[in-house]
Amino acid sequence: MSDYTFINRGVMFVLSSPSGAGKSTLSKLLLHADKNITLSISATTREARPGEIDGKDYFFISIEEFRKKIDNGEMLEWAEVFGNLYGTPKTPVYNALDAGKDVLFDIDWQGTQQLHATAKAELVRVFILPPTANALEQRLHSRAQDSIEVINARMKGASRELEHWAEYDYIIINDDLKTSEEKLKAILYAEKQKRIRQTGLVEFVRDMQGELRTKFEE
Ligand code: ADP
Ligand code: 5GP
Repeated sequence: MSDYTFINRGVMFVLSSPSGAGKSTLSKLLLHADKNITLSISATTREARPGEIDGKDYFFISIEEFRKKIDNGEMLEWAEVFGNLYGTPKTPVYNALDAGKDVLFDIDWQGTQQLHATAKAELVRVFILPPTANALEQRLHSRAQDSIEVINARMKGASRELEHWAEYDYIIINDDLKTSEEKLKAILYAEKQKRIRQTGLVEFVRDMQGELRTKFEE
């Protein structure tokens, strides 16, 4: 078995949720736990929150720069969310997938729909639900990074975002964080074992059959 290198094309692993349900928190836990998954860093025209780092959390760019990237075909998908533009730079994603890495996307339902249209086979979609509407509001306040106006706008938009939950393959109700993390890891782990993703197995099984025939068939 050691003669075989099982490099399979990676999974595009999407997390979406209403703002504040916990997808950034869960993304960080998954990235920490699984060294084969890498975060797709989006570009956005929104202002950086306190503590956010350019090039790590997002690429913070102007509307003009964003439009130029769309026109140059550099965005894999993009959408307007709460009055700001957000988009996924294409090249880093394809480089990571070609190298057998999984790619984690923290994007909304509009971006997920676009990825579904262009990369269905590679896509795994997970929707994170808050346990209650109150918990969602509390989490947005406890994050303490947005103004009251921004929090209220996000709570107003939450019901519309929830409309898309049924477009996803997996749903996690993010009540206990540790349990949600375990569920997320289990989803990725199971998806990686799917036969269609294990392209390297074709040669492995064929050679094993050859060995069996040589040794045991008359
Ligand atoms: P999102 O990325 O979906 O907007 P965040 O990951 O930023 O949400 O989470 C919003 C807030 O809720 C953060 O302060 C985070 O620490 C907290 N949080 C996330 N998951 C849980 C959970 N299961 N229980 C309690 N608080 C949580
Ligand atoms: P936030 O401003 O809270 O970081 O993100 C707001 C929303 O934009 C979240 O639902 C987040 O998932 C979404 N988002 C972030 N990056 C992208 C992206 O590249 N594309 C799309 N379509 N949505 C994104």
